[in-house]
Amino acid sequence: MKSPNDLLHRFQLERAGVRGALVRLERGWRDLRSNGEYPGPLGELRGQAVAASALFTSSIKFDGRLSVQLQGSGALRLLFAECTHDGCVRGIARWTGAPPTAPIRLDPEARLAITIENRVTDTRYQGMVPVEGGDLAEAFESYFERSEQLPTRIMLAESSGRCGGLMLQQVAREGGQSTIDEDGWNRVGHLLATTTARELLELPPDVLLLRLFHEEEVRLQPAQPLVFACTCSRERVEGMLRSLGRGEADATLAEQGSIEVHCEFCNRRYVLDENDVHEVFRAIEPAPPGATRH
Ligand SMILES: [Zn+2]
Repeated sequence: MKSPNDLLHRFQLERAGVRGALVRLERGWRDLRSNGEYPGPLGELRGQAVAASALFTSSIKFDGRLSVQLQGSGALRLLFAECTHDGCVRGIARWTGAPPTAPIRLDPEARLAITIENRVTDTRYQGMVPVEGGDLAEAFESYFERSEQLPTRIMLAESSGRCGGLMLQQVAREGGQSTIDEDGWNRVGHLLATTTARELLELPPDVLLLRLFHEEEVRLQPAQPLVFACTCSRERVEGMLRSLGRGEADATLAEQGSIEVHCEFCNRRYVLDENDVHEVFRAIEPAPPGATRH
């Protein structure tokens, strides 16, 4: 059953020549957290990253996965969130030391990446920029500015069991030379800045967009459902094992009797015994000499 609060809304602001997206997650966010809850500010940051990953799928056509990843050398080691083309989200964070109690300022040494894996064409695109401090929304704005030369305004929030985001991007109008409306862009940016996190997370999307941009000719497209779902599978675990190599697999078997892989996103456990491992490598290893055909 579709949840009315787990949706991605794409929209256009016709007058200003701006495209946008609004994301909200409630049930999906609860399901995601049921596999591991993080302390306050870290949970907030994960919610923002999950909302961002869904927002960024709004402007591309693809069949696969889009992930956002922040890697740092400070207490926040990793922040990762992913959304598939059909709206399945997941996300984790890794932290060292005492759990954070104050809002997390991003480490200026951290690096922020957005990766798009296209399943059909089997291609992978990754853009990466250094983080210059500030919050996650600012870091993503800077990403689009530097990596894609795409003026972008982003708002992200997590609170009271919901997470969400709102994004505006300046797009060139079709045809004509002077196709960018700078006044329009500045105008909608100021309007976005008047939104509160509470409005973002609680107002019905059409009400919120009309309240904010009522003079901007809002064109709202049909919404896309979002759910929490993990993309891990036994096949992927086997693929990972193959890439590690038989030597590594045999060493783990000798030490532990079986190979156990735990998925951090959904808590699923995959256990492979000696026979399973043999099967995994059978297809890719050369046949023993006696079996060689002449
Ligand atoms: Zn999983």
